Amino acid sequence: MEFRDLKKQYRILREDMDRAVLSATASGAFIMGPQVRELEGQLAEYVGVKHCLSCANGTDALTLALKAWGIGPGDAVFVPDFTFFSSAEVVSLEGATPIFVDVCEEIFNIDAEDLERAIRQTLDGGRLTPKVIITVDLFGLPADYTRIRDIADRYGLLILEDGAQGFGGSFGERRACSFGDIATTSFFPAKPLGCYGDGGAVFTDNDDWAALIASYRFHGKGSFKYDNVRIGMNSRLDTIQAAILQVKLKAFREYELDAVNAAAERYTSLLRDIVAMPVIPEGFRSSWAQYTIRLRDAVQRDALQASLKAEGIPSMVYYPKPMHLQTAFEGLNSRPCPCAESLCARVLSLPMHPYLTETDIETVCNAIISTLK
Ligand SMILES: *Cc1c(COP(=O)(O)O)cnc(C)c1O
Repeated sequence: MEFRDLKKQYRILREDMDRAVLSATASGAFIMGPQVRELEGQLAEYVGVKHCLSCANGTDALTLALKAWGIGPGDAVFVPDFTFFSSAEVVSLEGATPIFVDVCEEIFNIDAEDLERAIRQTLDGGRLTPKVIITVDLFGLPADYTRIRDIADRYGLLILEDGAQGFGGSFGERRACSFGDIATTSFFPAKPLGCYGDGGAVFTDNDDWAALIASYRFHGKGSFKYDNVRIGMNSRLDTIQAAILQVKLKAFREYELDAVNAAAERYTSLLRDIVAMPVIPEGFRSSWAQYTIRLRDAVQRDALQASLKAEGIPSMVYYPKPMHLQTAFEGLNSRPCPCAESLCARVLSLPMHPYLTETDIETVCNAIISTLK
């Protein structure tokens, strides 16, 4: 069994995929070919925002957003403590300071109450200026934007939505990557919408920020390619990857997103009363980047992972370490985030992808049930 079966996906999409890749190769337009602009239009339309700017990966996408806002030394950026390293790394890379905020046990996303506490503590400290909240749509579920937007408005902060895992998720009528003032996603192969290498995108309704990001991703270009008006980056999505993503986006819209939701429902119905399952609050829909259960403690989690492995069932610990305990952030004098710390000891992500069969899910669940009994 595969954790995320990208080979099976390729076998199913093969005809369209091979045609798209060969056509991109034959065209010779390897950089910023027509597929890139087409894809950006399709992504913007799907997400429901005015601008989509593709780039080299999800980490650069976050960096481009922070650059467009001029975030740097002296600025405080609030980041959930339970996330992939990138969400906070980009803040330090720009010279700003990440302030880690605890998450909610059941939804894994940033805790609005602790966020407000962290903002007040930062204001009271008087050393840093609160500027941005980076929300993460972890494991496919959009963060609690109703409450976070209220806090952002009250304290005059911008929201940067890290939708690397959230693409395809929704709350009410709105899709992930439309909640932030700027939102980003990643097309790393294992993400809900992945390419065959690295890729990413930035989304915004704001014309000025979109223009700045378009410049930053291309060496700070001005009116033409060799007019450089600011220090930027080389961060573009390859034409071949855009062609691959066009094929994948079609499958994602037509059936993959429904298929992962059906798989999640199956897991949930079989594991009910056995383990603590992911919770999707009323009105939300997840794109299930991960299906993550919670065990009693690290001992039980590690034993379960070992016994699944013995039966040939892959599982992953996302994430084993909270941000505030990462070596790279030593010396930041971070706030305590007990929930994030506890989750790191107890979470386990199960095989999850649109091509998982009923039998696969039953195999995984039976192994979990027999181990825990
Ligand atoms: C994967 C990921 C990123 C970074 O994306 P890359 O394309 O790998 O650079 C950022 N944030 C989160 C939450 C992620 O899961």
